[in-house]
Amino acid sequence: MTLPSQAAVVVIGGGIIGCSTAYHLARDHKVDVVLLEQGKLTSGSTWHAAGLVGQLRSSASITRVLKYSVDLYKGLEAETGLATGWKMTGCLRLATNADRWTEYKRLATTAKSFGMDMHLLSPAEVKAMWPLMETGDLVGASWLPTDGQASPSDITQSLAKGARMHGAKLYEDVRVTGFEMKGDRITAVKTNQGDIACDKVVNCAGQWARQVGAMAGINVPLQPVKHQYIITEKIAGLATDAPTLRDPDRRTYFKEEVGGLVMGGYEPNPQAWTTGDVPNDWEFRLFDDDYDHFEQHMVQAIARVPALEAVGVKQMINGPESFTPDGNFILGVAPECANMFVGAGFNAFGIASGGGAGWVLAQWVVDGEAPLDLWVVDMRRFSNLHRDRHWVCERTLEAYGKHYTIGFPHEEYASGRPRIVSPLYERLKQQRAVFGSKLGWERPNWFAPEGVEPRDVYSMGRQNWFAAVGDEHRHVREHVGIFDQSSFAKYELSGPDAAKALDWICANDVSKPVGRLTYTQLLNTRGGIEADLTVSRLAEEKFYIVTGTGFRTHDASWISDHIGEGLDARLTDVTEDFGTLSLMGPRARDVLSAVTGSDVSNASFPFGHIREIVIAGHTVRALRVTYVGELGWELHVPIAATGEVFDALMAAGRKHDIRPVGYRALESLRLEKGYRAWGSDITPNDTPLEAGLGWAVKLRKNTDFVGRRALEKVGGASLKKRFAGFTVDDPEIVLLGRETILRDGEPVGYLTSGGHGYTVGKNIGYGYVRSADGVSDDFLASGSYELVVAMQRTPANIHLEPLYDPAMERVKA
Ligand SMILES: Cc1cc2nc3c(=O)[nH]c(=O)nc-3n(C[C@H](O)[C@H](O)[C@H](O)COP(=O)(O)OP(=O)(O)OC[C@H]3O[C@@H](n4cnc5c(N)ncnc54)[C@H](O)[C@@H]3O)c2cc1C
Repeated sequence: MTLPSQAAVVVIGGGIIGCSTAYHLARDHKVDVVLLEQGKLTSGSTWHAAGLVGQLRSSASITRVLKYSVDLYKGLEAETGLATGWKMTGCLRLATNADRWTEYKRLATTAKSFGMDMHLLSPAEVKAMWPLMETGDLVGASWLPTDGQASPSDITQSLAKGARMHGAKLYEDVRVTGFEMKGDRITAVKTNQGDIACDKVVNCAGQWARQVGAMAGINVPLQPVKHQYIITEKIAGLATDAPTLRDPDRRTYFKEEVGGLVMGGYEPNPQAWTTGDVPNDWEFRLFDDDYDHFEQHMVQAIARVPALEAVGVKQMINGPESFTPDGNFILGVAPECANMFVGAGFNAFGIASGGGAGWVLAQWVVDGEAPLDLWVVDMRRFSNLHRDRHWVCERTLEAYGKHYTIGFPHEEYASGRPRIVSPLYERLKQQRAVFGSKLGWERPNWFAPEGVEPRDVYSMGRQNWFAAVGDEHRHVREHVGIFDQSSFAKYELSGPDAAKALDWICANDVSKPVGRLTYTQLLNTRGGIEADLTVSRLAEEKFYIVTGTGFRTHDASWISDHIGEGLDARLTDVTEDFGTLSLMGPRARDVLSAVTGSDVSNASFPFGHIREIVIAGHTVRALRVTYVGELGWELHVPIAATGEVFDALMAAGRKHDIRPVGYRALESLRLEKGYRAWGSDITPNDTPLEAGLGWAVKLRKNTDFVGRRALEKVGGASLKKRFAGFTVDDPEIVLLGRETILRDGEPVGYLTSGGHGYTVGKNIGYGYVRSADGVSDDFLASGSYELVVAMQRTPANIHLEPLYDPAMERVKA
């Protein structure tokens, strides 16, 4: 065998993900692709997967990716002649308590929102479908008839054959040993059989993806964890088309296999494998059986399926699988290397994801841009924090342990905290702050009043912080509050061509005079929103860019990647240089003017401006902007001075009744004001025109920018979806997002975010209303609306204007 000396794309890894990616690159894009596998195809994690294929996730795009897998597996045999073992058995999920039942009602609504039919069944119906099951403790079950199971090795071999049929070259027994690099680009892949020059590399090396990535200087934060299941002898009475079964309250899953059962589970005390390198000679290998550890699942499984007690175990599988710190897989381009793409860390749903993940990853490799909103799996959701292997391991084990626990709204992870704290951490803790964490930063979610325990108590209805957050909210509307937003990501773009670079990158006109601040989106070539941030001009050749905490790596990469060739502009991340205090509320000016000699009157410091002012002897960047719909400033303070400036503001604010306010109140305030949140309300799937943000796009200016052409194309035509607000009066309803929107009884979309507005006294949701014939003002206004919340229809009112606006004069005055 001789390897080719060159290829357009080299895919590393012959598991299901690598084979699917190679298949799609060859089939859809006719790319010259070479796949390298160090052992035999499927010999990593793929061969020993249990083969359950579920589809529903909380993200619409990821659900679409998983649905695509199923469609592919159904039809692949017809193309390649190799069966995939696909069986549409449907999936039952059991509920044994009220909270789980509420979770399923919400899930069933999410499924409807995403175009899938999930039903809720009674224990008697469950018993009829799965007679061997003990149903005495059940409240009921959810039933998704289109889920199923497949044979992992067969699918992978079928994909490999399909890839070859479309011209891909697949090589076994070839190990990638390194890369030749030029700057941050790979120029050739080195192997134990020679080098291959290439344009792009796709790292689908499963649990080895971390060390393969490290050879090119990239960080793939995954952790191999031991995962076990058993395969039993035949069980009398078990139907060959028995639905797959998930029993999350007992942490177990089941699947029929050759007349017996596959049974495994997600224990609360998972066992990590190595935090060092994974050995290369791990072909078709397993760990020793660990019945002691598995006993917890056995006990629960026998209680559910008593026949298991009497049946023999044919085999135990104890294999490694890569898990990630947030339970989502890792896809996309590596921020540290311009031409390495990654598809790894599949958290035990790589078989379910494989078909679709390969489809979108191939498109991403070819276009250099994700084809849909893949933010929840985007590799750029991580940061330097994720280079700490021990932190990653600890958090990953927590995520694994939560695989089957009830997903309560607003739940926070507990492990590896506190990790990054603002200089105000101790002060805010003393004020009874209850913290959440975002990208490692501790951030106050709310402040517990005396008499209320400062911790979250999770539940499916209103949670224990509801009233306290209401007080914080009203305080900002009526007096003044101070938010610690030090975790904001902050960059400076400097150089003679900085303005020119931003003209191309930003949808809004940010080339304004020094001292101006602009709110803008960054668009992809489809006109979809890739980022949402503010750009302030500090000097002719220097801009200050502020974006959300979680978007730090993503937005920095997007900006850097889109600085036009040959332009002299440099992006520097200055996040840790500045603490950020947001002073918001009608009394904000009174407080600020008491601590600075600078003129902060509206005349000399209007809305949409940035000024340097001095507070407590420190020069502070003051940004006149708001996310809450009140008069206010974001104060960006040299990090070491954050405490002193905070103290000065608190002291001066005492007579105006100042108080610290948390992120949950911020969310409620922004919902009332209709500010869109990136990642939920506005995503790469949505254009500013659809999102009602056309006013922030410089289409009237004669400057080209990324996404302009796409927007111009749709500009004249009527929009097929439009962003709108909804309110629900019923105080018992809890809106969280993904609830179905009904117009005249017909589904027309779903909520992208939801919550409660304390000033308007209503529940608030936002979402896109869709119609293939176009969504006009008249269409929106003429319908009668309802929301489906946990399968219940509830009347709703539509709003095209912010729900709370009277403050606008006050905000801009
Ligand atoms: C016990 C168990 C049960 C599971 N059950 C299910 C299930 O029911 N449903 C489901 O959807 N998922 C399940 N999974 C998960 C599923 O197996 C994985 O998510 C999936 O197989 C991952 O595929 P992959 O291609 O990413 O990785 P792998 O299959 O591990 O493939 C990566 C390949 O890369 C190769 N490689 C590594 N380094 C190099 C190198 N330097 N050069 C060349 N090649 C290299 C490896 O040899 C390997 O073959 C289960 C996993 C386990 C452990």
